[in-house]
Amino acid sequence: MKIAKTKIVLTTNRAIIVFNILITMAIFSNICFAENVGKKQSAIKKGYETINCTIDEIKTIHTAFGILLDTVSIGFGAFQKCLSNAPLIEFSGSREQVSLTASEALKLNVLTKIHCYDAPKNVLAQARVSISGESMKVDRGFLRSYTNRAKAIAAVIAHEIMHNRGYRHKQNDFGSKYYLNTVPQQVLACVLTGNPNRSMGPKALTARLINNPTWVQANNNCLNACQSARYSPVISGSYQNKYDFYVCAHNLGNKGFRPGFNHKNEKRCSVGSGGDTHRSKNKYCLCNIPNINYRWVDAEQYDDCKATCIEDSLVPMATESYAGGGFFFICSVNAWKRGFRPGYNLQGTRKCVAGSGGDSVWRDLNKRCLCAE
Ligand SMILES: [Zn+2]
Repeated sequence: MKIAKTKIVLTTNRAIIVFNILITMAIFSNICFAENVGKKQSAIKKGYETINCTIDEIKTIHTAFGILLDTVSIGFGAFQKCLSNAPLIEFSGSREQVSLTASEALKLNVLTKIHCYDAPKNVLAQARVSISGESMKVDRGFLRSYTNRAKAIAAVIAHEIMHNRGYRHKQNDFGSKYYLNTVPQQVLACVLTGNPNRSMGPKALTARLINNPTWVQANNNCLNACQSARYSPVISGSYQNKYDFYVCAHNLGNKGFRPGFNHKNEKRCSVGSGGDTHRSKNKYCLCNIPNINYRWVDAEQYDDCKATCIEDSLVPMATESYAGGGFFFICSVNAWKRGFRPGYNLQGTRKCVAGSGGDSVWRDLNKRCLCAE
């Protein structure tokens, strides 16, 4: 069993908004608090059970559960929409499954055990991953300081429930760039603000690279983008010796970041899909960073890029698909025999797919794969 910890920082501004919502709720809510008085006690209510909590803590938890219930009953459509628009990482199966699991879990049909405790510094709550039922520990200090911010507590409880249901942020823990795109943290965002956290960009496949800024967001060409981050762009080849092809990625149709090409005379990333070349300025560029040596390796026609790199004891480079459907390995093809341009190779397939100057798409068995030492 793994224990996942939650740490979040709330801005003052947001707290004020949440406080206002709470006032509105208090006026229209029919919720009655337990009349019992006393120090620490346990209480079983509809949907949750508190353990070792004070009466004030129970009141706060009660309000938080009311908010959660509203989110997935009155606000069910908005919550579903928020989650279905959310960039997600660290999950298996489909996005629909995540959305379904989250909304089922937050219906509060399962009794949620809330243990009040004094957490270590900077920890708000803890929950075990993949258990039957729902159980978590919530920090007393958090409950106290957020007495008037029950929505924040509701959001953290939702985050912990997702841990109970098996979702985690193991590879992208608190403090890492992609933490905000993990399932528990996106569920938290959808409860707290009604909007998902924006995409943090394409994620390199290897664990080694996860916390490295190897992808740089760019509106300009990749040469400028990488140089302004004090790096150089990764180059696959040159177009008739006129200009170099740079590796970029674009989140085409919100279905995951696909590698494509960019060059110094072009601000957009060109990605091949279907029968068309799709171009977008909204892109990320792959840059050379210290301690990582990239190598383009000629692939056997019937190997995918994963097999190609592994055969040479190298690490295959890929972007992770937000659609949860595997990886887009980074490859290049010598289109029109005018130089190798970057594209993508889908996991388990043989061809490299690249955009073209025209609107056609290259799908070529003769490919090179981007691997890292
Ligand atoms: Zn967590």
